Amino acid sequence: MPTNADPSCIFCKIIAGDIPSYKVLETDHTIAFLDINPVSVGHTQIIPKYHAKTLIDLPDAHLADIGPLLKKVALMTGAVEYNVLQNNGAMAFQHVPHVHFHVIPKTRKDDGLV
Ligand code: 5GP
Ligand code: ZN
Repeated sequence: MPTNADPSCIFCKIIAGDIPSYKVLETDHTIAFLDINPVSVGHTQIIPKYHAKTLIDLPDAHLADIGPLLKKVALMTGAVEYNVLQNNGAMAFQHVPHVHFHVIPKTRKDDGLV
């Protein structure tokens, strides 16, 4: 659990291991895990081990750790083409109030997922 965890936050619970997840990468500051409701095969969430609602609230040291992991996760998916998506606030379609970055591989339509 992050030192500043919000006990009601789903992603803080994932960090603490209180909710299971399929982790693909982890550093001292960051974890990456598969999305529970993927929009494509390999859809991954990258989150700081620090409870901040939006990008602006996130200390630079945590943000700096995430950048290289975006590249690593994108490479790990094997996707040549992919989206990196980051939503801030309800109007921007943020549903989980713990800052997160989606890596969304673009896969063939015959995978059944787009
Ligand atoms: P948002 O809409 O806030 O940008 O994205 C939140 C993402 O978190 C969604 O893609 C959703 O499927 C994912 N998500 C929500 N709850 C869980 C969970 O308990 N486990 C995992 N692995 N992903 C989750
Ligand atoms: Zn949190």
